[in-house]
This record gives sequence, structure tokens and C-alpha cells, in this order.
Amino acid sequence: MALNLVMLGPPGAGKGTQAERFARVHGIPKVSTGDILREAVHSASELGRDVKEGMDRGELVGDDLIIEIVRERLMRPDAMAGFVLDGFPRTAPQAKALDELTASRGPVVCVEIQVPDEELVRRVRARRVCEDCGANADAFEHAIDSVSDLCQNTERCRTVGPTWVARSDDSEIVVRERLKIYWRNTRPMIEYYKARPTFRAIDGMRSPEQVREALVGAVAAALGQPAESLRDLARQSGGQA
Ligand code: AMP
Repeated sequence: MALNLVMLGPPGAGKGTQAERFARVHGIPKVSTGDILREAVHSASELGRDVKEGMDRGELVGDDLIIEIVRERLMRPDAMAGFVLDGFPRTAPQAKALDELTASRGPVVCVEIQVPDEELVRRVRARRVCEDCGANADAFEHAIDSVSDLCQNTERCRTVGPTWVARSDDSEIVVRERLKIYWRNTRPMIEYYKARPTFRAIDGMRSPEQVREALVGAVAAALGQPAESLRDLARQSGGQA
């Protein structure tokens, strides 16, 4: 059975970190629309030039464009055994489009990570990302110049070490704007999922390890399976712990 997971929650809730780990362990792709767009901006492609200004202001990219990006990504062979979506959907039309895209792919589990706004602002202001691979670190928790163990994703990271930078949309003003947009557009969309048996909410105020455990439990419960069966599935898929 395909393992289809949608991570929901506000910016800074830890969706990216959890999605990354879950996808790696289960040998399925993490599809992050934010990462895809940042990569386009980084490489100065036509898409990147079109979206950069709006992203820097914390605004959402248009539904049609983002739906097309996700459609194309989910059609690739590696997503047939499942996927972890991070940052999509964010609006009601995107949620509807996702239903259509996944209609014949088995259940889609949606897990919302809940974190209060003030903690989100704190986290996002402290967030640093590796310029090369996108790994995340928290500048309040780590002596940021010295942490390299959080970032081992590319050959360059492993040999040269990470280059930690703040995301251009992580300033406090932009973060507050992104939260406003989240409460206006995305939170109401979550109501659309809430009534489904495959929806779960978890508390994001715990340590990343505890959130990770809660996520596995929530996905298993949503699928009506014991958490252990999900761990077995991970072992069979040959994903990396
Ligand atoms: P994220 O890394 O998910 O916080 O996304 C960073 C930025 O990319 C957002 O603030 C939006 O400008 C844009 N973006 C990412 N995903 C979407 C989406 N599903 N719909 C619209 N805009 C998006």
C-alpha cells in the first residue's frame, strides 16, 4: 500500500524537519513546495524570477502554478509508492486539486502539527538553513558556526561543511505576515480535512524526537494499524533510519 502523507501546520511548526525524516525512513520522496520554489529562485530560472518578490514578502504563489508543480512532481515514478507533502496544500483550491490528483492512490493521511504563534515567531527568527542542502538548524539552541552534524546531505556539506544562512522570508515582519496568511487561508482549509478519518493533530511543542514518535503513532492510527507495523514497513522499504 502506498504511504501518502500530508504535513499540515504553520510556518516554523517543524513540518519540514519531520517530513524529511519520515520520508527518508520510509524510502519515499519528500515533496516540499517551498524547497522547490527556493531552488528555482536560487538557480534564477524563469519560475524563480516570477515568484521571488512575492515569496520575499511572505505572500502565497498562485494556486494554478503551485498545483501544476505538485501535479508534475507526484507523477514521477518515485512518488508512486507514496510521498510526504510539506507546504502543500495551503488553500481550499489546492486541497481540492490534491484530492483529484490522489483519487486513485489509496488513503492520504493528513497530520497537523500544532504550535502557538509566539513560539513560531521565536523559532522562525532563530531558523538557519544550509545554503547548499536546505537542512535546518536553530540558532538559539546551537552555536551555529560549529554545527555540522545537522547537515550531511550533499557531498559539499560533508566535505566543506554547511553554510548557515537565514531564509530571506524569515524576518519577524515577514513571519508575522506569513502567519496572518496562514490563519486566513490555510487554517480554514484544515477544517476541510478535519472530518476525515485519516486526519490527526499532534502537539508540536515537544522535542523533535517526541514529535517524530507522535507522528508515527498518528499515521498508524489514521491507517488503522499499530505503530509497529509502520516501523516494519520502514524496515522493508530499505529507507535509512
Ligand atoms: P515554506 O517553505 O513552505 O514556508 O514556503 C515558503 C514560501 O513559498 C511561502 O511563503 C510561499 O511564498 C511559497 N509557497 C510554498 N508552498 C506554497 C503553496 N502551497 N502555495 C502557495 N505558495 C507557496
